[in-house]
Amino acid sequence: MIVILKHGVNQDMRQPLVDWLEAQKLKVHVSEGEFQTVLGLVGDTRQLDMDLVGSLDIVDSVKQVTDPFKCCNRKFHPADTVVEVGDVKIGGGHFAMIAGPCSVESEEQIVTVAKAVKASGAQLLRGGAFKPRTSPYDFQGLQATGLELLKIARQETGLPIVTEIMSIEHLDLFADVDVIQVGARNMQNFDLLRHLGQLRKPILLKRGLANTLKELLMSAEYIMAGGNEQVILCERGIRTFGDYTRNTLDLAAVPMLHQLTHLPVIVDPSHATGRAHLVEPMAMAAAACGADGLIIEVHNDPLHALCDGAQSLRPEQYDVLAEKVRRIREVSAL
Ligand code: PEP
Ligand code: MN
Repeated sequence: MIVILKHGVNQDMRQPLVDWLEAQKLKVHVSEGEFQTVLGLVGDTRQLDMDLVGSLDIVDSVKQVTDPFKCCNRKFHPADTVVEVGDVKIGGGHFAMIAGPCSVESEEQIVTVAKAVKASGAQLLRGGAFKPRTSPYDFQGLQATGLELLKIARQETGLPIVTEIMSIEHLDLFADVDVIQVGARNMQNFDLLRHLGQLRKPILLKRGLANTLKELLMSAEYIMAGGNEQVILCERGIRTFGDYTRNTLDLAAVPMLHQLTHLPVIVDPSHATGRAHLVEPMAMAAAACGADGLIIEVHNDPLHALCDGAQSLRPEQYDVLAEKVRRIREVSAL
């Protein structure tokens, strides 16, 4: 339930109401906006007399929130969340370009790609060390060694690193990772999400292959309920009957999520399409529909990539994409 206070109601005026609500075993989240203050009530509000609260002088209106997600709900927190990774901001009008190979393969590969994407304007470096592969016989990533190579690339370029965690057993290895990615296949690994909720570092949460937006938000809720509010959502395509693309990029998810949640929403056109030539047009479309950033696979030698070569851009293709996205963003800001 949320209680919207009348314009001009200050802290002294609202405190008796907050005390009264807390005495009824409700948690009260006060969100002070530019124009109005909202009290978000968490707990069992069934016994609360909505009409009584609504009749108070200082109250504008009372609304029953039926959404099961609270922490990430925009109704409780009208302002956009801006996630900060070093100097890089994501959300609230700040657009982040994340790029790098699907998986870390060698020091030379990751450092070469990191330098190239940085020169094109990328602000964060992606690269998988632990890879969730459909077949157990495929390359599983360099694992702990891959994390060390990412750190070398970070040292060489200054780019913060984004990399996927697959198991809570590896949490210690990720202590020095800047953004921890939860891949599509682990979006509902609730135990993992709960552990990530105990950390105080950004989590990039990808939408599952066949998950609804509500399920994505409930997964974000698992992380945020533990106190970690730095969650970035990622639309990366879902399974449909589309037969020419690896997945179907659900771009309507971007403005829809922006309406439902204050969390930043980025788009991954690489896994969404599975085809390098579709990555640029979908990246531009994502920028045009208001995404807060893009995560894109770039490889110095896609033909010989150990994973996802077909969807990986060469550095020079990424450079063109980055410029086109900048221009789209200029137009979108008009
Ligand atoms: C990835 O980013 O490399 C990845 C495996 O993505 P997803 O979890 O979206 O499939
Ligand atoms: Mn990949």
